[in-house]
Amino acid sequence: LNFEELKLNRQLLNAIEEAGYTEPTEIQSKAIPQILAGHDIIGVAQTGTGKTAAYALPILMKIKYAQGHNPRAVIFGPTRELVMQIEIAMKQLAKYTDLRIVALYGGIGPKLQKEHLQKGVDIIVATPGRFLDLYLEEEIVLKEVKTMVLDEADKMMDMGFMPQLRKMLEVIPRKRQNLLFSATMSERVERLTEEFLEYPMKIEV
Ligand code: AMP
Repeated sequence: LNFEELKLNRQLLNAIEEAGYTEPTEIQSKAIPQILAGHDIIGVAQTGTGKTAAYALPILMKIKYAQGHNPRAVIFGPTRELVMQIEIAMKQLAKYTDLRIVALYGGIGPKLQKEHLQKGVDIIVATPGRFLDLYLEEEIVLKEVKTMVLDEADKMMDMGFMPQLRKMLEVIPRKRQNLLFSATMSERVERLTEEFLEYPMKIEV
């Protein structure tokens, strides 16, 4: 399958070409059709496999245009470094759209992040800690979230983010699509998928 056969729109195909991607990686050709079809996904994939674009492209495809004030997709990652990388990758792929992508992480003051949120946002990329802080300050309204990604879920659990994630999973609308990516499938990650995913398709690369 090439990118056109994955039924991505012209704005995304142009950005993909500019990024220098000539063909989809294995995780991309397997995951993108499933995500576009609305399935929950467990992606067992390491960094370097192209996993970010595997979920970013179908999310950008589904969300399409900037709309309203509140986020429609939320992506969680364990570290500030990963969140910043995801933000850069997503903004590159979204460069021919008007979608508003905001990254939230600790280590810096929340002022600028709050200003971005207050201008309206379509997609949030965040570490669980800073996200929860801003949610509790009522800077984030979750009622329009339709897609949630847990990237490096194993690492988020290792780092002790489970209580924060559990809290978020309870307040994000239940009727949503869940995409979980993990380098390993430990028993803990398995239990998390059983608890929160609905009939997930498992994709291993
Ligand atoms: P990731 O596994 O998401 O961290 O991606 C690893 C690297 O592969 C990043 O530098 C991406 O820009 C790059 N990449 C992602 N998809 C493709 C593709 N289809 N072709 C070439 N490079 C890609």
